[in-house]
Amino acid sequence: MRAMKTRLSGLRVWDGNAGETSPETLDLHLEAGKIRGLGGSPGGEGWENLEFPTGAVAIPGLIDAHVHMDLDPHLRSPDDQFTASRADRDLRMVARARDMVRAGITTARDLGGGEWRELALRDAIGRGELSGPRLLCAGQPLTIVEGHCHFWGGVASTREEQAAVVARQLERGVDWVKVMATGGYFTKGSGVDRAQFSAEEIARAVAQGAASGLETAAHCHGKVGIFNAARAGVRTIEHCSFASAQGYGADYDAAVVAEVAAQGAWVSPTINGNWLGRMEKEGEPTAFFRNMQRVLSELRAAGIPLLASTDAGIPGVFHHGLPAGLRAFAKYAEVPPVEALRSATRDSALGLGLEAVCGRLAEGLSADVLVLAGDPLADLDWLDKPLAVIAAGRLVHLDPTVSGSTQPA
Ligand SMILES: [Zn+2]
Repeated sequence: MRAMKTRLSGLRVWDGNAGETSPETLDLHLEAGKIRGLGGSPGGEGWENLEFPTGAVAIPGLIDAHVHMDLDPHLRSPDDQFTASRADRDLRMVARARDMVRAGITTARDLGGGEWRELALRDAIGRGELSGPRLLCAGQPLTIVEGHCHFWGGVASTREEQAAVVARQLERGVDWVKVMATGGYFTKGSGVDRAQFSAEEIARAVAQGAASGLETAAHCHGKVGIFNAARAGVRTIEHCSFASAQGYGADYDAAVVAEVAAQGAWVSPTINGNWLGRMEKEGEPTAFFRNMQRVLSELRAAGIPLLASTDAGIPGVFHHGLPAGLRAFAKYAEVPPVEALRSATRDSALGLGLEAVCGRLAEGLSADVLVLAGDPLADLDWLDKPLAVIAAGRLVHLDPTVSGSTQPA
């Protein structure tokens, strides 16, 4: 249940920011869904206690900056997504949310669905009725006729139609605006290197969102689309793969990276665990690996901040798979575990405008805590063994080896 006051004892702590995990063990106090303090004791009566075994480490709950709650990753083709009944699809979405939060993903940004069901899920989780991550949702992405994810309904040709698509999302209560700046792999024939909108068209969507206080995310594979989105002032560039018909990273362009950096956009590279299997072939690095290593290294060298993200929901990419995605991120971006973890905690919170809500273990922030059996700064594999997960103060997972007086809801 949701204990009002919980003390987590015997933990080393990585706060989402520091260069290392605290060498000493601390107590973490959670009260009314917020972090009350690290170390020390706030005193008073009525604290439920969870006592962790030696070696346990607490880190902030993880953030996946790009998911699709309403997509079933078991299905290969977009058409298959719509064959199950709406009721069955809703139940599967609820199960995905539960699996995500139990794996330690306590916040996620949903960047597209067709029927706004993920917004209803967001609200039910927010009310405490369902178990799942805090969700930010974008609704139907703006796209073109037969363009990327046209089947979600955000199709527009004229200036008036484009404004109407964005207005429809705002009316539904989205948290982000999403624009499909290029074609994509998920939509056959849409052309990953085809720019779907001009910089001016994207800029109008950005301004329309901004008038309601919202930022815009742009799906971008090809370099022209990346440039247009950056020039238009989107907050986050999704994928940023520099893909052409020759594959990911094949159309790398330093001038486009310079534009992204100059505009201050963030990049959400959507690296999933399956990328680990795409690194080598017959003992040699694959072109995919070398190309994306280069793109990520150039983005980092230009000072462009990266958001951890998986694109969960696309074929073969499961919603609870961010830990494997972070291992792939560390390999491709050639960064130590601490940097991969920052991209999924402090940095994601900053990029998504949630820095006053979550992303760090600090007094006053949401009680989003992932407790692991060992130190993930030493080995990211510890992310696969959560001892406990607390999301917005609610205990959603507890390993039987942890002794305590409170139990999961
Ligand atoms: Zn996506």
